[in-house]
Amino acid sequence: MRLSSRTDRWLSASRTWNVLGILAPIGMLLICGQMLLDMRNDAWDKATQTSRNLLQVIERDIARNVEIIDLSLRAVVDNLSAPGISEISPELRQLVLFDRAATATDMGVVLVLNEKGDTVVDSHAVPARRLNNADRDYFRAHAAHADLGLVISRPVTSRLVGVPVIVLSRRITKLDGSFGGIVSASLKLSYFTRLFANIGLGPRGAINLYLRDGTRLMRHPLAAADIGADVSGSATFQHFLKATHGTFVGDSLRDAGQRLYAYTSVGDLPLIVNVALAVEEIDAQWRTKALVIGLMVLALCGLTIGLSFLFGCELRQRTRMQAELARLSLTDALTELPNRRRFEDEIARAWTGPADPVAVRSLLVVDVDYFKAINDRYGHGIGDAVLRGLAACLSASIRRPGDLVCRIGGEEFVLLLPDTDEVGALRIAEAVHAEVATLGIASAGIRPGSITVSIGLASTLGSATGTVAPADLYQFADIALYAAKAAGRNRTHIAVPRRNPPMSQEIAAQWVGAA
Ligand code: GH3
Ligand code: MG
Ligand code: MG
Repeated sequence: MRLSSRTDRWLSASRTWNVLGILAPIGMLLICGQMLLDMRNDAWDKATQTSRNLLQVIERDIARNVEIIDLSLRAVVDNLSAPGISEISPELRQLVLFDRAATATDMGVVLVLNEKGDTVVDSHAVPARRLNNADRDYFRAHAAHADLGLVISRPVTSRLVGVPVIVLSRRITKLDGSFGGIVSASLKLSYFTRLFANIGLGPRGAINLYLRDGTRLMRHPLAAADIGADVSGSATFQHFLKATHGTFVGDSLRDAGQRLYAYTSVGDLPLIVNVALAVEEIDAQWRTKALVIGLMVLALCGLTIGLSFLFGCELRQRTRMQAELARLSLTDALTELPNRRRFEDEIARAWTGPADPVAVRSLLVVDVDYFKAINDRYGHGIGDAVLRGLAACLSASIRRPGDLVCRIGGEEFVLLLPDTDEVGALRIAEAVHAEVATLGIASAGIRPGSITVSIGLASTLGSATGTVAPADLYQFADIALYAAKAAGRNRTHIAVPRRNPPMSQEIAAQWVGAA
């Protein structure tokens, strides 16, 4: 019960709604911010994961195909050293040296070149087509170094098939350890074009295949000028060399934008493949949604603030009106003095409450003499003016902040005088008579001195015998007032109880007022 009344008070306070009007939008903004952050992280996680998956598939395919080609090269190198191979017919030798890998779709030609670079055996022709590749980098590299293993060349245009290829080669070493030529196999770049085809990476996304020396072997989408380009000097490429695989955000090699790079080395080969996604395009996936959600939440925040503010204003107005109504319900409309209800409240709450039951208190009941005659002679309006003037006279007669003047009936007033004994109350009554003597209504021709009042006085500690309970003061003062009227009006009578305590109305009726 207490809790609910406290909650009611909390809910009906305008400040509560102002605070809620601020806290609720802050909460909404925090939740929205967290949500947008999650959306951004999700978009980035998805992009990273997609890149990694793609890389894995590409890397495996390239590694497998290069391995197959390399196995063929090794086989040729091994078979060349088989006894009697040079004696058999060229047709038979070709059959012995080359397996079916040499005829795969993207394979160019497998050639055996002697130490001068001339073709000795050709996988596609018997006798071998005449050609000299001694000027090729890979040939020179094998001639100069015995232990290069598999060498992958930069992109070149095949002299036999006339299309761009990369050449994979191995050294042939003679029995005496000297250079005996190379076995080379060309792989058409169309292999990569087919491998990367139909992979959608957004308008600015790309897949790149590099040699570890920074030469770009292939790019998807294909741009002819990019093939063979050297990017070894760029910071982004240097990043690829730091680990076997990884992801990072770096500057694009192509434009001013940034890219999310996922990269990996291809097996043990000197190849690096990467997938690059434009940062702007990753962000674009969540930014539009974020903008719509953000704007909607902002609008809701604005609405909440507005409504809370309006509600707070409404509550303030209602509280003001309630206070005004409460004031009016305790105020007399004509004189603006506290009314009978306020008088009764005061008696019940402050005068008869447990706070100070034995304190000295006095009460004056003031009644205008022959007021009916004033009304009859000057009219009701003038009568009202007299009552207002009288209210001013009574208010001017009290001295202490705790004293209270109330209009409790037509032309009947009370003065509640706390902490005032009979002598003090009598002094106030005299002040009332003196003030009223100055009251006149010039416009009606009522001269000062023509209006008088009679007063009944009762005190909790009377001059005569015994005491009076605060609740009974009005009753005694009223009896004293009638005594004053009976004695000729324009005077004050003090209630004097004959016995103690005379509480009941029947007993009180036996008492008389005494001047
Ligand atoms: P007494 O000396 O015995 O008190 O005589 P009285 O005429 O003052 O007393 P009575 O009770 O006979 O008349 C009171 C009059 O007060 C009657 C009523 O019309 C008038 N009255 C009551 N309330 C108002 C008011 O608000 N305005 C005006 N103008 N007159 C009022
Ligand atoms: Mg009266
Ligand atoms: Mg009267």
